[in-house]
Amino acid sequence: MHKVLMIGAGGVATVCAFKIAQNKEVFSELMIASHHVEKCDRLAKAIHDKGYDLNIKTAEVDADDVEQLKALFNSYKPELVINLALPYQDLTIMDACLACGCNYLDTANYEPKDEAHFEYSWQWAYKERFEQAGLTAILGCGFDPGVSQAYTAYAAKHHFDKIEYLDIVDCNAGNHHKAFATNFNPEINIREITQKGLYYENGKWIETEPLEVHKELNYPNIGGRESYLMHHEELESLVKNYPTIKRARFWMTFGQQYLTYLDCIQNLGMSRIDEVTYEAPLADDPTKTVKVNIVPLQFLKAVLPNPQDLGANYDGETSIGCRIRGIKDGKEHTYYIYNNCKHQDAYEETGMQGVSYTTGVPAMAGAMMFLKGLWSKPGVWNVEDFDPDPFLQVLNEQGLPWHEVFDQDIEL
Ligand code: NDP
Repeated sequence: MHKVLMIGAGGVATVCAFKIAQNKEVFSELMIASHHVEKCDRLAKAIHDKGYDLNIKTAEVDADDVEQLKALFNSYKPELVINLALPYQDLTIMDACLACGCNYLDTANYEPKDEAHFEYSWQWAYKERFEQAGLTAILGCGFDPGVSQAYTAYAAKHHFDKIEYLDIVDCNAGNHHKAFATNFNPEINIREITQKGLYYENGKWIETEPLEVHKELNYPNIGGRESYLMHHEELESLVKNYPTIKRARFWMTFGQQYLTYLDCIQNLGMSRIDEVTYEAPLADDPTKTVKVNIVPLQFLKAVLPNPQDLGANYDGETSIGCRIRGIKDGKEHTYYIYNNCKHQDAYEETGMQGVSYTTGVPAMAGAMMFLKGLWSKPGVWNVEDFDPDPFLQVLNEQGLPWHEVFDQDIEL
């Protein structure tokens, strides 16, 4: 029986908490801690209202502040901290875990607030300290990153002697019936999409203009969707761990309306992440003004729909998988492993849409792997560093079943 502390009470955290509550034989107690304790209380109530009787405590914490985190960890004494706040908090939470002897799991790699740039080097730099402390850190255990790496590890373990070509394909064919909304935290999402594209070929990283490379790909049960090459963090660890890979790319679908809005947002300067000065009226005397610094993208987040509120009217499904070409017993083979997830199914179970669901379920499954001792080894690890079999088994049982297609034209 194990005690875990989850940081964040957003869309992904909601799904993860529901899944933890459904697996009481592994998780005996949960603390939900976030910026605003009311959100944690609402989440605990929603879980109890659905009939789950897990022992849940809540707390308020600023995860940018290591001292606050340390005080919280020392008082609750969790075995594992599940970080479902924002990528900006990864390093402070890892520091607090080291100071308090807690293990660590997250779903997105560290990103500095003032620079839209993500890579694993900052978190890999903690490897020795986690090793020396005898603690495990599991990085990027959502769907992509996360399940995409477990799929690749599963392919390498069972179906290939050598993986040569890897394409991770992420399609959201859902419709939330809003003019424009993002499926997870808008600030993080827009920073990611407006970055330059990057892929790996013949030992080199090749940069493209943002969303410059695209083509129509077919997705199971969905059909053709325009898919855009993007930089995605898991490629960095996968090409390192599978050095036979000749080319690795990541593709994501976007509808034309979404891209038109994104273009306008950029042209209007609303995707800027630097501070601008705004002269705002004083609350108690609107005839007077005060100069405030705001980050346009953070302001935009405040006026966009909250991804957590999209679920009720979301129809359609997601389809995320890995398309792989490589060699087994001297012959070339192709392999496609994927999951399709219906937004309405996710909503009925957890009140959240499919993108939060496909991230929150693997976070719980990774935590379960650690607590069962199956993914427990001192150091800082990516998902493909662990045995994929028990993890994929849990995904099958917990709402994210996967399917395999052998030796068919995988289009890439
Ligand atoms: P949300 O914005 O819905 O939730 C983030 C939560 O973190 C909120 O409860 C927020 O609190 C809290 N938070 C933010 N800053 C702090 C802070 N300084 N201290 C304490 N709490 C804080 O995001 P999502 O649930 O959509 O995403 C969560 C994570 O999952 C992100 O890191 C995202 O990148 C990742 N993700 C990973 C995916 C994958 O497949 N690997 C896919 C999708 C998302 P409040 O709202 O009260 O400010």
